[in-house]
Amino acid sequence: MIAENIDALISKQFEGALQAKEVVFNQICSENVKNSDNGMQYWLSLAPSLLQKPERGDTPSNVDPLALPEPSLLITPDLDGTKEFKLVLNKFPVVPNHSLLVTNEFKLQSSALMPSDLITAFNLIVSTDDVNKKNLRHMVIYNSGPRSGSSLDHKHLQLLELPENFTPFQENLCKGHEHFLPTFNKEPLQDARVSFAHFVLPLPEDPADVNEDLLQMCYISLLQRTLSFFQDWNNERPELIKSYNVLLTKRWICLIPRSSIKAKSLDIGFNSIGYAGLVLVKKEDVYKSIKTNPNQIDKLLLECGFPNTAGQKPNEYNY
Ligand code: AMP
Repeated sequence: MIAENIDALISKQFEGALQAKEVVFNQICSENVKNSDNGMQYWLSLAPSLLQKPERGDTPSNVDPLALPEPSLLITPDLDGTKEFKLVLNKFPVVPNHSLLVTNEFKLQSSALMPSDLITAFNLIVSTDDVNKKNLRHMVIYNSGPRSGSSLDHKHLQLLELPENFTPFQENLCKGHEHFLPTFNKEPLQDARVSFAHFVLPLPEDPADVNEDLLQMCYISLLQRTLSFFQDWNNERPELIKSYNVLLTKRWICLIPRSSIKAKSLDIGFNSIGYAGLVLVKKEDVYKSIKTNPNQIDKLLLECGFPNTAGQKPNEYNY
């Protein structure tokens, strides 16, 4: 069982670490911007502190900062009494209280999510959403594989508070849809207005109806479609490496196949967070470019993903 006051434990740890400068957090400005072509909303944020965040390859392969986290960052060594997971503050948060759900046993970040990973992540969201009438919504992400934007190899998921007044497009896509599992006749939801491939399933409205079997079936059915891109593109682009993002909220799960960490037409990279519409920028010139022309975000996300396949069945993908 996750402690009832886990949200308070996270906030207390974050406040202490922030004051002691043990977390590196500097968000200069953030604003909502809109793509006038397709109506997509983005939360654009300039966070130069992310320049200090290690990128993939910066941490030596024999160093595992998540095995023995800095004491000031450790929220709990045993999140739910199973000893399977610890909860740690992200040293380079992108939003306040940004935390990492880390396996206590070393597992690879490229490995698939297990039923216990999924249900623990879901329970963590349920424990922190809308607590004390704060009306906060959370998202758990998993960046898997070397092109997903992941920087550390020790398996970890990330818990983020969604900014107030911002709704990921997946939330709107699921409106009016009941939970379903994909069948031959019914594909996962995909918003035809965005350029990049993504697969979304609505979850049952009542969190009590969500269990590890259901989450696992959702994840596996989306993973099959996600991984099919790497087979289908193998001849054309043999350099591709199996990589994808997972986004989970109380209401939906989404997977995104990834072809690249960094975009081609602008100096920016993405992990799962970008594919919820949260665009984090490290450099001011890039921020200005995006603010002046938010319509380019959709293209940047496509440069790091694969083309949208809305309306097609997996064997009919028309790239
Ligand atoms: P990812 O980039 O998806 O692999 O996630 C790894 C996360 O760990 C990043 O968001 C980093 O900000 C964070 N991080 C990097 N080094 C440390 C550290 N020493 N302690 C805690 N978090 C870290």
